[in-house]
Amino acid sequence: MTDTLRRQWARVRSGALVIACSDGRLQEATDAFLADELGLTEYDRLYMPGGGGALAASGRDFLRAQQLRRECHYLVELHHVDRVLLLFHGPSTDGPADATCADYRRKLSGASAAVIRARQVRDASELMERRDEWAGPAAVSAYWCEVGPTLRITFRAMEPG
Ligand SMILES: [Zn+2]
Repeated sequence: MTDTLRRQWARVRSGALVIACSDGRLQEATDAFLADELGLTEYDRLYMPGGGGALAASGRDFLRAQQLRRECHYLVELHHVDRVLLLFHGPSTDGPADATCADYRRKLSGASAAVIRARQVRDASELMERRDEWAGPAAVSAYWCEVGPTLRITFRAMEPG
């Protein structure tokens, strides 16, 4: 893409909202995945520590999660979002433990990468179940972004339930 194209403002919104972790080491891979696999560019972003998991209390952050779910609902209405993508991240089972989401490490202090990953799956599932509350009429899907043993980043849809 040329610089001229990159700096071109699009009048029409994409209708998609991506909720992902602030972790800058994942951003270029996230953009590439969304563009190449899902055809999404210029989507709205709600990036904060924990990504999709920030909308879930994980047994601890009740006020923060509630506020962020409210903020998400507001954005869905404000920008007429019809599709929300929740992104969670961490290492693969054989990946580097330090690729674990720092926000989840704080919330689940002392937990192993495997325990944190299980919690992320549970949080994604619970958020999907109550999506009407924070995503209104928008369709919601969840994706797992993982760092493998060679530090390669891959994405895949998280299975509901
Ligand atoms: Zn993170």
